[in-house]
Amino acid sequence: MKTSTVVNAKHFKLLVVGGGAGGLGAASKFARKLPRGSVAIVEPREDHYYQPGFTLVGGGLMTLEANRRKQETLIPKGATWIRDKVQLFTPTQNLVKLRGGEEISYDYMVIAMGIQLRFDMIKGAKEALETPGVCSNYSPFYVQKHYREAMNFKGGNAVFTFPNTPIKCAGAPQKACYITDSILRQRGVRDKAHLIYATSLKRLFGIESYLKSLEKVAREKDIDVRTRRNLIEVDSNNKIATFECLDEDSKPTGKTEKVEYSLLHIGPPCSAPEALRSSQFADKTGFMDVDGSSLQSKRFPNVFGVGDCMNTPNAKTAAAVSSHLKTIESNLTQVMQGKQPCMEYDGYASCPLVVSTNRVILAEFNSKGAMETTPFDQSKPTYWAYLMKRYFMPMLYWNGLIKGFWNGPATIRNCSRMIRSK
Ligand SMILES: Cc1cc2nc3c(=O)[nH]c(=O)nc-3n(C[C@H](O)[C@H](O)[C@H](O)COP(=O)(O)OP(=O)(O)OC[C@H]3O[C@@H](n4cnc5c(N)ncnc54)[C@H](O)[C@@H]3O)c2cc1C
Repeated sequence: MKTSTVVNAKHFKLLVVGGGAGGLGAASKFARKLPRGSVAIVEPREDHYYQPGFTLVGGGLMTLEANRRKQETLIPKGATWIRDKVQLFTPTQNLVKLRGGEEISYDYMVIAMGIQLRFDMIKGAKEALETPGVCSNYSPFYVQKHYREAMNFKGGNAVFTFPNTPIKCAGAPQKACYITDSILRQRGVRDKAHLIYATSLKRLFGIESYLKSLEKVAREKDIDVRTRRNLIEVDSNNKIATFECLDEDSKPTGKTEKVEYSLLHIGPPCSAPEALRSSQFADKTGFMDVDGSSLQSKRFPNVFGVGDCMNTPNAKTAAAVSSHLKTIESNLTQVMQGKQPCMEYDGYASCPLVVSTNRVILAEFNSKGAMETTPFDQSKPTYWAYLMKRYFMPMLYWNGLIKGFWNGPATIRNCSRMIRSK
């Protein structure tokens, strides 16, 4: 019975699951290499967003519309878009089952399903997002509300939260906080506000060279940084956010703290997408278990991962996707030719930390430390880095990354290192 299902299934040489930053980039690369009709992308969403732009939308510095494209206009030439969702992976048969019931088989697969926002993990959060004062830059539905709330803010606590789970763009919750500070200053109401940044982490940022700069920014902006706090409940009737206090191992201590809010920006808990979590590709955390160098599935060598859905330790960013794409382009091609993967992912990620409405700290790093591209000191907030964030990076995303042309800044970095060393 199962065999006949496989025979009847539609077949593609390369199936890409997810048509976000990583999925489109991977599909574009291989649609150029393989014969027409060999590549299919499974992606349920009709609208594709440039998510790094959400920070600026929340700050009123860009429109949401400017960050949206119709998915159909982005599908690479020669590739097929299957507008559905993978519900079940059966990797032992090289088969996926879609929500609509259809089955698709493949020779090779790239999983690029991103990360799932889990507002449902905070009691009352989903309901609270529909009430005045509560917003989140993480969702296209609530990002514009951030700007409206900042513009209407009259006084009280403005609270920004960071969850006790992996999250994409871990800098985004504090960017929202700094931008709000700027807006309130521009409106002349900053003295009526108490800004609280409540994070489950033990410090503001993991990379030492940027940590010092961010601590200075937070100090200068008079932000009340509360570490080891995890938002667990929002009572929108009484406008109270409840946090559990965490110990050094991020475990709840049993103590809670209640904070009244006028504005609450939620950095949502996140998990691996549902279909991935329950699949044979997942490790015990639910994320895709890949070899951290080759990005090949540990159990199924004809399958590779890209982007936020993997269990690699890099910061989950579109910048990291550029390096992932470079890695899998080489390694998947090798595997298609019956060879072993030989390209190693360098761990690169980047987070342009927007610290006001016109300054950015252009953090670039891997787990060992900074990996800066330019010859300038990127740990300082600068206007040129803001211009890069506002104008250059969106252009690079739409014309380079998702079209499979941008492999990250490693070559430019090597050139600028040579300049610096002279
Ligand atoms: C507020 C915010 C600010 C950010 N700022 C930055 C920044 O400044 N710099 C930076 O580099 N990055 C930033 N990022 C992160 C960046 O957007 C992500 O890291 C990047 O989009 C990851 O790409 P991806 O392909 O892994 O996931 P995504 O781009 O999220 O795409 C995943 C796709 O998979 C699809 N999918 C999910 N489940 C299924 C399924 N079952 N079947 C089929 N398809 C499925 C989804 O619909 C989605 O389209 C930011 C993100 C946010 C939210």
